[in-house]
Amino acid sequence: MVDWLDGVYHLHYTRFNLLVFFFGISGADRVGFLTMKILALSDNVISFIYSPQVKRRFQGVDLLLGCGDLSYNYLEYVYDALDVPLYFVRGNHDQVVEYGSGTQRTYPHGGIDLHGKACFIKGILLAGVEGSLRYRPGMFQYSQSEMWLHVFRLAPALLKNRLVHGRYLDVFISHAPPAGIHCETDLPHRGIEAFRWLIDFFKPAYFIHGHIHIQRPDSITESQVGRTCIINTFGFREIEIETPA
Ligand SMILES: [Zn+2]
Repeated sequence: MVDWLDGVYHLHYTRFNLLVFFFGISGADRVGFLTMKILALSDNVISFIYSPQVKRRFQGVDLLLGCGDLSYNYLEYVYDALDVPLYFVRGNHDQVVEYGSGTQRTYPHGGIDLHGKACFIKGILLAGVEGSLRYRPGMFQYSQSEMWLHVFRLAPALLKNRLVHGRYLDVFISHAPPAGIHCETDLPHRGIEAFRWLIDFFKPAYFIHGHIHIQRPDSITESQVGRTCIINTFGFREIEIETPA
């Protein structure tokens, strides 16, 4: 649907667009729009994804997103199998160098590190920030202040998006959740204040994160804040999003 807000053209994504294709609902493209299918991964290796079945099961996926705490080898396997663009951010458990059988990886080959970057891919405005709050020595952890800096550094690109594309951002990916949403009270799993501001100000259609492990089937993994649908990927999530043709 198309909304007008402050005289500026916005895309309005309803939860209807989040039709997981478990149910086989794959929307026919509406006039002027294309439906893009996203597969988001984080935290937990899924056995049928890390297998030759992945190609058949996720046929039709247009874009792969990695939300952290997954081995580079796993992401690379899915990227090679599906042969679609892969954008990722790292989590607090990711390695600087990952050692495999006779190989070393510092990122999933073929993937693009989205930390602190904004880009336009297949009609979708993407941006991302890696890591969690700092709770021990190691990489990919930051203070709340450092997270504010990461978000502020994205602002010029998002403002430019609004001028060029009529909207700031479609999909934001992170490892940690926003403050007050899907987060927990212990330091490693607290939410990021700057992400909450980003949601209020830039109003992405989707905010996709990882980091929060789901222990119970009744855990909340999807929340709506204003125009933004916030999704905890934990494992994998399939998302459909409409973009202007
Ligand atoms: Zn994590």
